[in-house]
Order: sequence, then C-alpha cells, then structure tokens
Amino acid sequence: MDFGLREDQELFVKGVRDFARGEIVPLCQKMDREGIIDSALLDQIRQQGFFGLTFPESYGGVGLDTHTYGLVIRELARADAGVAIMISVHNSVGSYPILKFGSEELKNKYLPQMAQGKLASFCVTEPGAGSDAGSMSARAEKVDGGYLLTGEKIWVTNGHFAEYFVVTARTGGAGSKGLSAFIVERESEGLQIGAKEDKMGLRSSDAISLVLDNAFVPDENLIGEEGIGFKVAMSALDGGRIGVAYQALGIADACLDAAARYSLEREQFGKPIARQQAIQWMLAEGATELSMASLLADKAAWLKDQGKSFGQTAAMAKLACTEMAGRLADSAVQIHGGYGYSKDYAVERYYRDVRVLRIYEGTSEIQKL
Ligand SMILES: Cc1cc2nc3c(=O)[nH]c(=O)nc-3n(C[C@H](O)[C@H](O)[C@H](O)COP(=O)(O)OP(=O)(O)OC[C@H]3O[C@@H](n4cnc5c(N)ncnc54)[C@H](O)[C@@H]3O)c2cc1C
Repeated sequence: MDFGLREDQELFVKGVRDFARGEIVPLCQKMDREGIIDSALLDQIRQQGFFGLTFPESYGGVGLDTHTYGLVIRELARADAGVAIMISVHNSVGSYPILKFGSEELKNKYLPQMAQGKLASFCVTEPGAGSDAGSMSARAEKVDGGYLLTGEKIWVTNGHFAEYFVVTARTGGAGSKGLSAFIVERESEGLQIGAKEDKMGLRSSDAISLVLDNAFVPDENLIGEEGIGFKVAMSALDGGRIGVAYQALGIADACLDAAARYSLEREQFGKPIARQQAIQWMLAEGATELSMASLLADKAAWLKDQGKSFGQTAAMAKLACTEMAGRLADSAVQIHGGYGYSKDYAVERYYRDVRVLRIYEGTSEIQKL
C-alpha cells in the first residue's frame, strides 16, 4: 500500500498552494465582508485553468484524476472555502451531467466553453423540495422542437455568474422517475436570476434563486433521455460529495494550523497555552480525526478513479469529513478564546464557513440513508 503522492501530484498541488497563499488569502477578509468574489481573482482563476480541472483534455480541460482534483480543492478550501465550492460545483455537479449522460453534440457544444471558464451551476433544490428531491414540482412541458420549463429553483451556487444551468424538471408523473434534466442557457427567455442570498458563511461564493416561466429549451438540450433526471442528479452528487469531503479537509487543515500557531503565541498563567495538556489534547485529537477522515476521502477518490462503485464511500467520506471539520472549527475557536469570536481572526470565518458543509449536497442525515 502506498500512501505517498506521485511527483506530478505534488508539483500540481504545490502550484495551487502557492497560488492560494499568494492570490486568494490576501482577499479572504474583503470577500467575506463584501459577500462576493473579487472580480480580478475570478479572472485569474479562469486564466489558471481552475474551471477545466476535471474536464478531459479532449474538451480543453486539465483532465485531472479525482484524487489530484480533491487535493486541489483541499488546498483552495484551506485558503477560502467559498472559492473552493465555486470551483467544485462547476467541475462536478454543474458539468458532470453533460460529461456522463449528454449526447456528443451537447458535449462538444458546452464542455469546451465550460472548461474555458463559462460557469456552470446545478439547479435541483426548490422551496418545497430539498432532501426529498424526487418530489420537485418544476415541470417541463413538451412543445414543438423543445420544452417549456416552469418552476422555481433555490440555492443555486454560482448562479450569479453562471452561463449554464443544469435544471431538473418533471416531464412525467409523480416521483423520481418522472424527472428529466436539461441544460439551460442564461440568456433563455423566461429565465430570471434572483438576488444573491445573504449567507452566514462561504461569502465569496454566491447562491441565487432562479425562476423559470415557460423558458424554452430546445430538444437537443435534454440531457440523456426523458425520465432519467433523478439518476443524472444523484450520480452527479455522488462525485460532488467527494469534492465537499476535500473541501472540509481544507477547512480543517486551516483550523488546525491556526489553532496550533495561536496556542504557541498566547501566554496565560506565565506560559504558552500550548503547554496546557487540555489544549494539547484538543490539537492531538483534532489531528487524529483529520487524518482518519482524510483516508476515507482518499478511498472514495481512489474508487472513482478505478472505475469502481464509489457512491456509498463518497457519502461516508462526506459525512465523516464535514462532521470532523465542524468539530475542528469549534475547537479552533475555543483555543482562541474570546479572540476566536472576533472577525480579526480567521477562525471566526472558518467556523461560519464550515457549517453549511453538513447541509448541502445532501445533509448529514441523508448521507446515512
Ligand atoms: C449555501 C448553499 C448552497 C447550496 N447550493 C445548491 C446548489 O448549487 N444546487 C442545489 O440544487 N441545491 C443547493 N443547495 C441546497 C441544499 O442541497 C439543500 O439545502 C439540502 O439538500 C437540504 O434541503 P433543505 O434545505 O430543503 O432541508 P430539508 O430537506 O427540509 O431538511 C431539513 C432537516 O430535515 C432533515 N431530514 C429531511 N429528510 C430526512 C430524512 N428522510 N431522514 C432524516 N432527516 C431528514 C434534514 O437532514 C435537515 O436536518 C445549497 C444550500 C446551501 C445552504
């Protein structure tokens, strides 16, 4: 068994780490305050090829394997978890439906543009259908040459900037078998982009609501065939959850680094708090939990890269990594004492950012079903 990284992986990840430290970290506080990604940074991310990470080279992408991609998301999340989820949603649930289920025509039309940085998003959740996605009510009515989509989608990550929206809607009867998936362009008549949510955390990433009012989508933009929309969405989420697991690992890395550093600097009772066993235990337990969760994420990525069944392991990895990162963020704030409750310290942001990882791409409870 080899737990090491290949030389090309190490080099790639080091490049991402340097980029994250040099270009993202200095902007984190500003983006958190303003609730939007810095536009110059967005351009840089595009130019550096981050929007093509998982796309095959034949479509103009980088063609990374899942494990290396996960390590990249981890490095990005260590700097800014909002930037990481923007890139992750685009490279997984926003594009995978086309890559896996789309016709050659759809792939050739959309994947090269997405890999170049035209942002993709994934629209499943509705006001009345979250965990129970199979009960969604958006509908797609068949008309000459295409479909008319009507309904409301919420929490659409990347929607503020996205050019493309993977939308699930009902073409058949009740239940999950009545759903189909479509690729909808931003300029489609009848598609309205709502305001950005004012979120607790991940503030450099946007999430919007989307109203479809008889939005026309041509026949060729049906992904796969009618009736497989639920399968398309669930299979995209299987892969997406590996990205969220690595995102959690990155936040946990940042929490542990910050807590260890602070514990050496902060003196109380005449010595650094790091000399107190209570603090050492929090750090040691955190490091152990982080290593355990990391192994599970690596296993899920490995299974996917081997072409083996990975859905269950991805769910376990998402559950383990996100719950672990929540605990580490809590300990990091605790180790910072009152300063951890101040926006002057990054752990305050990590604590807010990490919370939603147990909710999106399937809540912790749903991972256990
Ligand atoms: C910042 C953010 C970004 C998001 N991005 C996207 C996106 O890009 N695209 C998208 O489609 N969606 C997105 N979502 C939506 C997200 O996936 C949903 O919020 C999530 O699936 C939960 O749905 P819900 O909020 O309706 O909660 P509900 O489904 O109403 O759940 C409420 C509670 O009940 C529990 N629960 C529900 N059913 C069960 C059950 N059977 N057993 C046990 N417990 C249960 C849940 O675990 C939860 O604790 C995003 C959400 C957020 C907050």
